[in-house]
Amino acid sequence: MIQAQQAFLRDAMRRLNLTREAFAERIGSRKRALDAWLLPDESAEFRAMPEVVRRFVAEILSRELGASMSTQSVHGAAPQADWPGTVHLLSVSQFNRDAVEALFALADVMQPIARRRKVTRVLEGAVLGNLFFEASTRTRVSFGAAFCRLGGAVCDTTGFTFSSMAKGESIYDTSRVISGYVDVLVVRHPEQGAVAEFARATHIPVINGGDGPGEHPTQALLDLYTLQREFSRIGKLVDGAHIALVGDLKYGRTVHSLVKLLALYRGLKISLIAPPALALPAELVALAASAGHVIEQTSALREGVRGADVVYATRIQKERFGTDETLDGHGADFEVNPAVLAATGKPDTVVMHPLPRDSRPGSFDLSVDLNTDARLAIFRQTDNGVPVRMALFAQMLGVDALVQRSMRDATWRSPAQVGVDDALLADEA
Ligand code: ASP
Repeated sequence: MIQAQQAFLRDAMRRLNLTREAFAERIGSRKRALDAWLLPDESAEFRAMPEVVRRFVAEILSRELGASMSTQSVHGAAPQADWPGTVHLLSVSQFNRDAVEALFALADVMQPIARRRKVTRVLEGAVLGNLFFEASTRTRVSFGAAFCRLGGAVCDTTGFTFSSMAKGESIYDTSRVISGYVDVLVVRHPEQGAVAEFARATHIPVINGGDGPGEHPTQALLDLYTLQREFSRIGKLVDGAHIALVGDLKYGRTVHSLVKLLALYRGLKISLIAPPALALPAELVALAASAGHVIEQTSALREGVRGADVVYATRIQKERFGTDETLDGHGADFEVNPAVLAATGKPDTVVMHPLPRDSRPGSFDLSVDLNTDARLAIFRQTDNGVPVRMALFAQMLGVDALVQRSMRDATWRSPAQVGVDDALLADEA
């Protein structure tokens, strides 16, 4: 079955590491034509890509990436990847850059299903067990939605209070018991390393849905996927970008995973903007520096964001503070709002946040004043959680090759835009 043109083109641009402008020039097409080929099928401006263009792009790919295509990309020699092919997903360290981009290519294939235009039943009969021992809205529900949209079913349990752990059951026993009921497990736990302990007790695939202040691999993968799509629209590449990470970099597990992924890219400037007490752990700073990135650490928000292509804000993780830890009234210094965005000096800075943002007065999290600003990518991030998680499930359960050919049109009607303030963007129409 032939790959949908949007997924085919995005994959080609990613593999060749070209912006849209450069890619259009490379294939001798007008940028406007390329934009129209990338639109969703149902968009009024969508145009079918001529077959000759597909053949030409395929020829460029095989000429430029050649025999090395399966093991090495235009990005250079790929370090050993532990993904896909391993049972569990515990850390983004399992990915090299080619593995990340193969996952993103599959997420692109999932987009029409995630956007409720197409349906598939490739996981019909399979059951996901969502075990969340810590608060969650989007991670738990989007994993569930992703599994359901692949045709599977979901069993949920939330909180210690409602599980047998409240009766003193061990992680080993819980993991083994649930493994007899379901085909894949997503686990969130307040202790770093606890999800790995679940994984050690089972041959069923276990996905880390956040382990204390450790990692949140699937969030970082969807963050990077979103970032690439935002950049694709505005003509930038991740390589060479200036990325500002703001807020609680000490306990923010999404940042920990994201920094590890960014270490796979080239020539970044990473501004780490945090109160001194909540700075990024030294080993992660060292990892990013060893990748050749320029690292700047500051607690002055407006200076730190100057020139940034991305501002990634985070919530202060007060629930993880020790008894003697406090922000000493400096929370306001880290609020990302329209004035801070103006201080970047760039008109197209992408604003991201893993969410939830704390919208209570005095919390000084990402400002709601940016809600109607098209640069605010937070809800595109949450939307992208579904196709990225679908892609992970499909790889882990070995149905990735079946998805494209199993797709049929959805039978129900759903709105083109789901949010009331969503900006209408070039390729999201
Ligand atoms: N939802 C993210 C997490 O679980 C970020 C946060 O809670 O602030 O880590």
